[in-house]
Amino acid sequence: LTILGIESSCDDTAAAIVRIGPDGTQILSSVVAGQTDLHADFGGVVPEIAARAHAERVDICVEDALAQADIALAGVDAIAVTAGPGLIGGVLAGVMCAKGLALATGKPLIGVNHLAGHALTPRLTDDLAFPYLLLLVSGGHCQFLLAEGPDRFRRLGGTIDDAPGEAFDKTAKLLGLPQPGGPAVERAARDGDPRRFPLPRPLLDRAGCDMSFSGLKTALLRARDAVVAEKGGITVQDRADLCAGFQAAVVDILTEKSRRALAEYLTLAPAQPAFAVAGGVAANGPIRAALQGLAKSAGATFHAPPLALCTDNAAMIAFAGAEALQAGHTSGLDLAARPRWPLDSTAAPLLGAGK
Ligand code: ATP
Ligand code: FE
Repeated sequence: LTILGIESSCDDTAAAIVRIGPDGTQILSSVVAGQTDLHADFGGVVPEIAARAHAERVDICVEDALAQADIALAGVDAIAVTAGPGLIGGVLAGVMCAKGLALATGKPLIGVNHLAGHALTPRLTDDLAFPYLLLLVSGGHCQFLLAEGPDRFRRLGGTIDDAPGEAFDKTAKLLGLPQPGGPAVERAARDGDPRRFPLPRPLLDRAGCDMSFSGLKTALLRARDAVVAEKGGITVQDRADLCAGFQAAVVDILTEKSRRALAEYLTLAPAQPAFAVAGGVAANGPIRAALQGLAKSAGATFHAPPLALCTDNAAMIAFAGAEALQAGHTSGLDLAARPRWPLDSTAAPLLGAGK
């Protein structure tokens, strides 16, 4: 089974070819064209600029993905595309491209939930069976999910305000670091003292696994302003210490809430307890290390995709499309783009939407 995946929901245009065979799953190619430079002057992703860039680049990404995989379009068995959630203009650019290819080739079209793409990625790279506990932690989302099947996710808890990726990006912006903020903050934090600026860990002692990150951002802003008021500016060391303090708080929140989510998951007595983490923030070294340690102490296996498969890519969309196809789902050519599409929704099928 050879699947073409297309992704264009935020600021990365991506295409990939994934093959599922008797001897496992292979990523034959994975092309990602980022847009960081296009949005750099605006301090965030500008939806209109993103949509235009996706429309201009998506065909080229598909051609590159096919060329790198050394196959022709006719050699593809199905076309999977992100149908939401995300910035509607970008999603539409990908969906229209996929519909054109499906129409031209007569191959099945599969509309994929972007979050299902992230959530299933640990199965793309590891031998991981359902049900597993998943922490989906990205630029726009943060939730604990019980992954019961390729289109069955039960939410155990999650952020009540911001997503950690957003908090990393805002922290970078406040401290004059480049976007995307996550990698920049992680790098700066390596030389920092996490104890110099003790930032809050909201909801840490509250039962359940809901989280909050907005107070952390405000506290960081105050800490920065206090340094600026005292010295007239911030030094490289101040910045490193602020980043380290921020990252340590995120690690503590995610670890403590994961502990609670794991305890809840383990009451289900899964045959092979497994804890997976996915989404852009799962690329963070200290977060991965802390969660790995936690899984080990709880007697669960730990699964974190390689860094390039944590952030947005189309291999995860191709793989989620393959899972949908194998479950018998495809979409019609009337597939609609959905700006909002919760992963734990029971109202609409998560994969193969539109039919
Ligand atoms: P969503 O998937 O929720 O719709 P998105 O697709 O924009 O949002 P992803 O691409 O999954 O988000 O993740 C991007 C986010 O991950 C950004 O906020 C970025 O700062 C963050 N991120 C990337 N690398 C790291 C890192 N090393 N440490 C922390 N955060 C990171
Ligand atoms: Fe994403």
